[in-house]
Amino acid sequence: MSETASKYEAPSSVPVGVDPTRASIARVYDAFLGGKDNYEIDRQVFEKVRATAPEARDLAWSNRNFLTRAVRFLTDQGDIRQFLDCGSGLPTAENTHQIAQRIDPEARVVYVDNDPVVIAHGEALLTENDFTHFVSADIFQPQDVLQSEVVQKHLDFTKPIGLLQVGTLHHYTADNGADLMKEYIDALPSGSFVAISHFLDPQTPEHSRLARRMEDVFLHSPMGSGSFRTREQILEFLPGLEIISPGPGKPGDLELSDMWWPDGPRLRPLSQVEQCSAAVVGRKP
Ligand code: SAM
Repeated sequence: MSETASKYEAPSSVPVGVDPTRASIARVYDAFLGGKDNYEIDRQVFEKVRATAPEARDLAWSNRNFLTRAVRFLTDQGDIRQFLDCGSGLPTAENTHQIAQRIDPEARVVYVDNDPVVIAHGEALLTENDFTHFVSADIFQPQDVLQSEVVQKHLDFTKPIGLLQVGTLHHYTADNGADLMKEYIDALPSGSFVAISHFLDPQTPEHSRLARRMEDVFLHSPMGSGSFRTREQILEFLPGLEIISPGPGKPGDLELSDMWWPDGPRLRPLSQVEQCSAAVVGRKP
């Protein structure tokens, strides 16, 4: 580990491995999404959150649906042809490379994760795709990721890159996450984009209480991380970037994940849990 990297410490920096008695972020997330790649211990975390917030699944789906729309936007409108997807998670139906390569079959994606189950699934999925690669690394050690052989070989740092931190930074519990993100952003060329989704404390009396209750369950669960930050705290993760407008006629800002350029008109109100997930996209000038 490099000297710079040791400034950053997160509970998930030490992967839990395949120990069925320990919950992993990737497997818990899979349980929230209704997937099958999870153990009893992971489902227990999900059930505990659900006891506090019956619509708990929305927390994962708001996040995943934002990822789909953001990657489509970055490829189609932002002309991004290479992605660094930090904390990629277990493969689902619509993964970053599938979304981007639908628009350009030669769009490059480098996935980074440190969960052995994710790595095994990811490598199996990607063996037949020349433009998609996988790095096993700690996403909270930016220099380890940026200097890794795979990233150096497959991403061209003279051309804009789409950096994704979707559903990851709330697992970084220390308060120097802005420094960590600055290391990533400093390495990106002009015209690059950063997309973030994050658990939100919306700072309203009803939803703040719910956010803090969910946070308490996550932090005291066998998973051990999941911080609900305020909008100001989340915006600190994009130092020096121009924030993209999150919807028609809106100034550049962070938005509830479900309200960030939704696919169509809303016919039902947002659930309580959907009020606790935020998304933001920034562009490096
Ligand atoms: N980005 C995907 C999405 O939004 O659908 C997956 C999000 S999932 C909630 C978070 C992912 O980040 C998990 O796959 C987990 O293994 C990974 N992760 C968490 N901490 C990590 C770390 N320190 N290094 C690498 N990966 C990490």
